[in-house]
Amino acid sequence: MLLHTIDDVRKIRKEWKNLKVGLVPTMGALHAGHLSLIKKAKEICDKVIVSVFVNPIQFGPSEDFDKYPRTLDKDYELCNENGVDIVFAPSPKEMYGDGQRLSNDTLTYVCPPFFYVNKLCGKTRTGHFDGVCTVVLKLFNIAQPDYAFFGQKDAQQAVIIRKMVKDLNVPVEIIQCPIVREESGLALSSRNKYLSEEGKKDALVLSKILKNIKACFEKGIDDITALKETAYSYLTDKHDLEYLEILDKDTLHEQEKADKNSIALIACRVENVRLIDNIYLGE
Ligand code: AMP
Repeated sequence: MLLHTIDDVRKIRKEWKNLKVGLVPTMGALHAGHLSLIKKAKEICDKVIVSVFVNPIQFGPSEDFDKYPRTLDKDYELCNENGVDIVFAPSPKEMYGDGQRLSNDTLTYVCPPFFYVNKLCGKTRTGHFDGVCTVVLKLFNIAQPDYAFFGQKDAQQAVIIRKMVKDLNVPVEIIQCPIVREESGLALSSRNKYLSEEGKKDALVLSKILKNIKACFEKGIDDITALKETAYSYLTDKHDLEYLEILDKDTLHEQEKADKNSIALIACRVENVRLIDNIYLGE
């Protein structure tokens, strides 16, 4: 069932009083990564809601909000094929009225702690995680899920959402699902659509760097600078590296040495498309 209004979702949610409900928040242009979250939700829950919403308030003014791929018909079809009960695809107006830019003049919003946003993607995407937390909390309030499903692909996002849920006592359990990759190693992303065939090949460098860091860690190297330096031989003038970090995977704290709880995270532009990826060193 395809629903566009908050009231319609609430009506159906009320009828599911005694059922376990799962929410999979997405921005659409669904791919196998999203489908893995839906599959996990189907395993755990009686009813599954997928939201498809390109959230204006998490995009900066010079980011790709306008050109972000919007493929609702195909997304709805995929959701139907995969047993989703509700696809919730609201308009920006339905979600925010007229306040479609992040502004504390017009909107009450959720502002995650500086420690978590002042690094990795948050460093260059000012206000991004405020926008993410605000929309996710709104979606939680609308769908009132027992479980919500997020991908490790957006590792910083998942840590921040868990922190928000804990700090604000939101009654939902967060389930994190592993990264789905192409056979080549490229992490699936809706933004891969922006890449040319050549760019897709250049983009493989992200997963190669991460895999190599993990291999070096497994050989016994735990010096973080040394691990990060292994990346340089992969980078060419086609790669505009934004960050490469090794941090604690649960807290995003810096570590003295890499250990089994470490995560290596990378953001790099290829053909001016901003790509992110990460790997757990201990799994
Ligand atoms: P998005 O539509 O990009 O906002 O992503 C919606 C959800 O799907 C987020 O929780 C992402 O982390 C997750 N996701 C995106 N790509 C992947 C992937 N390749 N593997 C697993 N989960 C993913």
